[in-house]
Amino acid sequence: MQINRFSFGTGDRFAHQGIAQLKATLKAMESGLEITHVWNKSNREHLTVKSSPADVRREADEAVKALGYKGQYLVDADHINMNNVDAFIGPSDFFTIDVADYIGQKASEKDLQSFVEKQKSYLGKLEIEGISSQYMVTTEFLRNVAEKYLFAAQEAARIYQHIAASKGAGNFIPEVSMDEVDEPQTPNELFFILAALSEAGVPVQTIAPKFTGRFNKGVDYVGNTEQFAREFEEDILVINKAIKEFNLPENLKLSVHSGSDKFSIYRPIREITRKHNAGVHLKTAGTTWLEEAIGLAEAGGEGVEIVVRIYEQALERFEELTNPYRTVIDIHRELLPHPAEVKTWGGIKIANTIRHDQHHPDFNSGFRQLMHCAYKLAGEMGSEYTNALLKYSEVVGRNVTYNLYERHLKPLFID
Ligand SMILES: [Zn+2]
Repeated sequence: MQINRFSFGTGDRFAHQGIAQLKATLKAMESGLEITHVWNKSNREHLTVKSSPADVRREADEAVKALGYKGQYLVDADHINMNNVDAFIGPSDFFTIDVADYIGQKASEKDLQSFVEKQKSYLGKLEIEGISSQYMVTTEFLRNVAEKYLFAAQEAARIYQHIAASKGAGNFIPEVSMDEVDEPQTPNELFFILAALSEAGVPVQTIAPKFTGRFNKGVDYVGNTEQFAREFEEDILVINKAIKEFNLPENLKLSVHSGSDKFSIYRPIREITRKHNAGVHLKTAGTTWLEEAIGLAEAGGEGVEIVVRIYEQALERFEELTNPYRTVIDIHRELLPHPAEVKTWGGIKIANTIRHDQHHPDFNSGFRQLMHCAYKLAGEMGSEYTNALLKYSEVVGRNVTYNLYERHLKPLFID
């Protein structure tokens, strides 16, 4: 099983927007784009809203059937590790093997030495076509990379083998992620990480490094977009060399765990992937839940009442809700409006406050980020919330499709 050159991941906290999401991909395909639609959900999300990996499979299959979709689609067990992978093995066919927690743990001395020994042919300047940066490889550098990443690569292999034992190798897409860490991996580190994965026997098809800059949840990229573009391009060139040198899958590509809505890097991603005939996987997730909130606000009636209640409770339970995300949000509490004020606004203004139109005078980044963290509260409302999604499905679905197509798929893959 091989993933297409281009693929797009969507998350759906409450499993009601599968059709609206797939409509966006179908619209993108109308312009001739070949793209894989992926539904991703992490263990953390499942625990928060009390859903199961089988629910994601059911939703995906139903959306595909309802729309007569003929393209490739996958169900991504997002950020799994050995402790939680089992429930995902049956329903999923894309596995994001998260080894971030194992970075920095040391492999055995014998393995470390053998890795460094094997890579000695690369000592000196790392020659990678198209890269002007000077990456020098020394024995010390190799030893450092090995100490930092070899054990993580071995752990990825253990998890990969565990999945392959049930599903059969070749029946799923293996991704390896190391994005949830403090320090970005440099392109020359990535090269030897791929060496380690190859040596450990992981036929990785997508790799998610941590890139420079801040990838806050649900809002735009914060950082130097030129530096991002350079790093992204160098990573692609590194991958191309690694495919040849380490006998990795031909279609190996970068996976960008975007945290949704990284509009200012979409254009560089599109231009650089085209320039190098490279692929990319881009994951979004929370952006769809936020469109539900926007749609409900716009709908008025019970819809807007639910959104106001979620916001009010989110302020009361601020620490609890934002703590799990504290490294990937920047909320200035003093800029958050008082709920009494929000109640006087009406649904359209509330929708404009949350909707990710950075030029709109009502847009409030902190409000949006807080709502991003607050989906747990919608989960606690249970059927009251999901009934509202059904009741207002037309306006909610329209927002979900528009957002994924116009703000994500189009700038990323079309123009
Ligand atoms: Zn991630």
